[in-house]
Amino acid sequence: MSGHLPGWRLAVFTALLFLALHAAGMLLFPGSANALSYIFLVLAPGCALLACAFYGAIPSEKLFTHWLLVAGGLALWSTGMVVSAWGDVVEHADRNVAFLSDFIFFFYGVPILFAISLPPEDQRSWYFAWIDGVQALIAGVLAYIQIFSVVPFTSRASDPVSTTLLLRGYNLENLVLAVAASLRLFASARKTAERQFYSLLAGFLWLYAVCAGVYNCLDIQALKEFGARDILVDLPFLAFAVGLTILPRWKNTAADHEVHKSSISIFIENGSAVFFSLALFALGASVMKSHFRIGLAAIALAMLLYGLRATLLQSRYAESQQALRLAHSRLEQISLQDALTGIANRRRFDRALEEEWSRTTRVHEPLSLLMLDVDHFKRLNDGYGHQRGDECLIQIAVTLQSCLSRGGDLVARYGGEEFAVILPATTREGAEAVAMKMKQAVQDLHIQCDPAEQRFMTISVGVATHAFSRAGSVASLIEAADQALYRAKQNGRNRIEFSSPDIIDLPQL
Ligand code: GH3
Ligand code: MG
Ligand code: MG
Repeated sequence: MSGHLPGWRLAVFTALLFLALHAAGMLLFPGSANALSYIFLVLAPGCALLACAFYGAIPSEKLFTHWLLVAGGLALWSTGMVVSAWGDVVEHADRNVAFLSDFIFFFYGVPILFAISLPPEDQRSWYFAWIDGVQALIAGVLAYIQIFSVVPFTSRASDPVSTTLLLRGYNLENLVLAVAASLRLFASARKTAERQFYSLLAGFLWLYAVCAGVYNCLDIQALKEFGARDILVDLPFLAFAVGLTILPRWKNTAADHEVHKSSISIFIENGSAVFFSLALFALGASVMKSHFRIGLAAIALAMLLYGLRATLLQSRYAESQQALRLAHSRLEQISLQDALTGIANRRRFDRALEEEWSRTTRVHEPLSLLMLDVDHFKRLNDGYGHQRGDECLIQIAVTLQSCLSRGGDLVARYGGEEFAVILPATTREGAEAVAMKMKQAVQDLHIQCDPAEQRFMTISVGVATHAFSRAGSVASLIEAADQALYRAKQNGRNRIEFSSPDIIDLPQL
């Protein structure tokens, strides 16, 4: 039969069969309905636990802890039911007061709350896990004291609270868990595995809160003879198991890391850590009524742990800010540097020239610009390969850099085998001197240019000077230097040309 049923129908059918068997068992064997019902009440969370373990083990590892915690909560619930069955069926304990099972039931919420308050992945740390673990432990002890009115490991007789009071506590706990999970659901990014986790969990917790609320209400009104209410308890667990089995899994994609989270989402995600502290405060305050010192100590400890958590988070924030600043300045540095030669790149050149231009016009100083191009560089590439060409470009860049002595001077790789030099507060004569120095320095490198010819690498230079008295623009200065360089190439290379009619000839090799 199962072979013909699609997955979701099979899951729903199995769940309905489970409920029907539970109801039928109770109707057909009224004498042992109580004991029989316990079997189903242990099995229902067991099914959810299995589905949870199965589901948690498969999708992205990141959510393994989340699913493990929920599975832990369900395991506690099942255990609570086993202990309850033992007390009820075997020991015939008085059910008007809290029993050990109630403590376990109450404690089921702790791992669930742990899962809800897990910090976002990028902020998870072992420190926080330890702090939350300690808080969970204290919460457990406080819950025990609250329920049994006795400090664990003392010889005094326990004085458990009435079932009515306990059930109100359960209802409150269920509501808090459902609201907390919904908040996380609201905060989580779209269509991620994390969102699916919180939607499934919130769905389960709301259904559980409603079903358990109705169940507990029936209990309070002493309608205990209405046995079918047990089926109500199966419902949320079975629905959770069915949901886990049939829903297609959402997997995180690389783009999920780039999802822009709203401020409110970030606030909720980071505020979720406070759930534990709040639970501890509430428990501490209620324990204070019967055990003042213990309650007070718990509150003090909760404050201390919360303070520690906040300080750790603040330190991490400061550290990440520092790392971000460093990374930012490093990136800025990289974005302004030529990857091959390590000198300034075109972007830095453009920025520096704009700055120098506005400074020059403000202080009325001349500004000179050199455009340099390596002569017949293609031949070197063709003759010796690109690798050698790259090495030569690095050599030339370093050499050009070494020709500059003033702080404000800047040499940049303008593109390919072209370089540009900004010379602030430099007249035409000064620029000429620098151009000659550079031209000579490159020639002195004695880079063999062509395997077929005995010729060393040379450069051609175009010089343009902006005199403060003249109008102009950055673009016109570049254009003038470029024109001069073009003329240097036209007129035979290995020479310097000026944007004015003057030409400086240098002896050819
Ligand atoms: P000219 O004297 O007219 O400037 O001749 P040229 O060969 O230097 O000029 P052309 O524009 O014909 O060729 C420039 C060459 O520079 C072509 C290109 O392969 C080379 N080149 C540009 N950038 C790089 C680089 O980063 N590495 C290497 N190895 N070669 C480059
Ligand atoms: Mg060239
Ligand atoms: Mg060129």
